Amino acid sequence: MMGTEVSVYLWSDDPEVGRATLEEVFAEAVRIDHLMSTYREDSEISEINRMAAQVPVAVGAELYQLIQQSLDISLLTDGAFDITYDSVGQHYDFRRRQRPDKKTVESERLNIDFRYLQLDDAARTIRFTKNGVRINLGGIAKGYVVERGIGIIRSKQIQHAIVTAGGDSRLLGDRRGKPWMVGIRDPRRDGEVAISVPLENEAISTSGDYERYFDEGGVRYHHIIHPGTGLPAGEVHSATVFGPDAVVTDALSTSVFVMGVDKGLRLIATLPDYESIVIDTEGQVFYSDGLQQPAVPAAQ
Ligand code: ADP
Ligand code: MG
Repeated sequence: MMGTEVSVYLWSDDPEVGRATLEEVFAEAVRIDHLMSTYREDSEISEINRMAAQVPVAVGAELYQLIQQSLDISLLTDGAFDITYDSVGQHYDFRRRQRPDKKTVESERLNIDFRYLQLDDAARTIRFTKNGVRINLGGIAKGYVVERGIGIIRSKQIQHAIVTAGGDSRLLGDRRGKPWMVGIRDPRRDGEVAISVPLENEAISTSGDYERYFDEGGVRYHHIIHPGTGLPAGEVHSATVFGPDAVVTDALSTSVFVMGVDKGLRLIATLPDYESIVIDTEGQVFYSDGLQQPAVPAAQ
């Protein structure tokens, strides 16, 4: 789903309830994918991208709210998180090793700016004030899938679970008496864990330059775009954020990845409920100030 894997683990005393709950979570993930996929002509988001530069487009409450939240996070992150990155992003095809040429980047870059979105709360419409603007919720939608999944699981009175979509997870309760151990991948050693973090009742998201990418001429072209340059952000190799809400950790991990160690950790320091671990391009690990209990290094 959304070009990534969705997984669910849960404990239920009643196997029937457990199985039915899994089905429900996966069905919800598919529903959200349909709503937010830019690859589907008939999705609401595609309708916005086709029409919003000409006329205000009416959208459902759910999508409207997520777009609104994306704009709030753009303000919070000084534009590091920006769903209009897709004006440039649409020209990438990582499987085919395709990327936009310099001229395309230079012209499409000018269409990246969340301020080109005009929201009308009363009519619940979205409008673009510039031709060529496009939006894509890839930086926040997986966190939303995770939150909705946990919501479903909770409603069944299940108390121990983990829902993961790509780099985004949320944990419900603990691992029955022990904390969940969540691994942060070593950004340059495939399949290896750089750091394990013990977590309970929390969301955690990692953004890395190793998820969707290709290397060409010694340069790594990957899927997180620096809105200022229109090029893949190059400050760090991975950024992890944890805190109470997976929608927020998803968007913030992408943001901290773009902002880099100094700016990124300074932002996190202003958010009491959120913490961060950043791995820079040298492999050095940085922790946000609030991390009292340091994460334990992975066993060798
Ligand atoms: P992952 O997809 O590996 O979980 P992220 O949560 O960091 O990683 O999301 C990366 C996705 O976010 C990209 O595939 C793209 O859809 C979107 N994106 C890329 N750059 C930006 C940006 N500057 N602001 C918001 N979204 C972005
Ligand atoms: Mg993210």
